[in-house]
Amino acid sequence: MTNQNAAVSEAQTMDIKVAMSSSPLFSSAAASSGRCITVYRRKLLKKPETAQKINAWADSMRASSPTRVKSTSPSRSHAQSEDQKSWMIHHPSALEMFEKIMNESKGKQIVMFLDYDGTLSPIVEDPDRAFMSDEMRAAVREVAKHFPTAIVSGRCRDKVYNFVRLAELYYAGSHGMDIKGPKGRKYNKGNRAVLFQPASEFLPMIDEVCKILSQKIKTTPGARVENNKFCLSVHFRCVDEKRWAQLAQQVEEVLNDYPKLRLTQGRKVLEIRPTVKWDKGKALEFLLESLGFANSDNILPVYIGDDRTDEDAFKVLRKRCQGFGILVSKFPKETNASYTLREPSEVKLFLQRLVEGKGSSLLGY
Ligand SMILES: [Mg+2]
Repeated sequence: MTNQNAAVSEAQTMDIKVAMSSSPLFSSAAASSGRCITVYRRKLLKKPETAQKINAWADSMRASSPTRVKSTSPSRSHAQSEDQKSWMIHHPSALEMFEKIMNESKGKQIVMFLDYDGTLSPIVEDPDRAFMSDEMRAAVREVAKHFPTAIVSGRCRDKVYNFVRLAELYYAGSHGMDIKGPKGRKYNKGNRAVLFQPASEFLPMIDEVCKILSQKIKTTPGARVENNKFCLSVHFRCVDEKRWAQLAQQVEEVLNDYPKLRLTQGRKVLEIRPTVKWDKGKALEFLLESLGFANSDNILPVYIGDDRTDEDAFKVLRKRCQGFGILVSKFPKETNASYTLREPSEVKLFLQRLVEGKGSSLLGY
């Protein structure tokens, strides 16, 4: 079983390795050389943060949250179109590759993992209004009738449950740090509801930082902190892009006093999480184990998500050489997913086709 008591000190070391390689905020000669360096986050943040670094970070978030195709010169536009073509060759549409996927799933149990925001619901300005459509809910309900299904979200588990409202699913909230499964389903080990919270000890600290941060960001119009129980989301969705660097700076200043918390970046959001070695990829592995599939060759795990935090799950699937990830994006992005879908409406179509194609041949799981 995955180690449930991940040591914080170990996580601190690991987290910096990840952060330094993925964010310009932490870029350094050592990191760019690919060498593995061991350094605590506290140490890094003691260095003076320059405006240049913060701006570089904001640029990185813009690149990961493209909302439109930029108007450019014809030659640049041609280059972008070539990039798009090349990207689609390497990460083809899951709808266009549907027959191949069906063939791959023959004789195997599909296990479905779904992110919520940007995957089942559109990204909207007010995160409290990121509702999923009734049609999408019906599609997910049908999928769950035929395949074990989990929602894996950065949101608080209760909040994502209130959006989805399907009691038959597994829910992994707070980036997998708060997992609960349905009671009495035959795929539960020992027929018990699964409950797993590897970061409980951080709850008071998360609440404290939420209060401090909420006060601090009041000077940035549109900024908002969402308390996701085991992690915090600082939303940039309603903040003028010119103020993104300012907001990032404010978050960094607060986090300087909390070395046991780390910062990750998503689509128009900064996530503050405990430095436990836990992410959506670990949650996926934990759920597969809970379902009794840890050592099974006859499964096909499918993970659909739109965000950087979903990459941890895509990576796990690549490493296991089992199943595949599907990235929801209209724009080329670096990803470990095998396939793509352009938007939530295509996710719905894919789920519906999966049930039509696969569900009819199964007696249930
Ligand atoms: Mg998402």
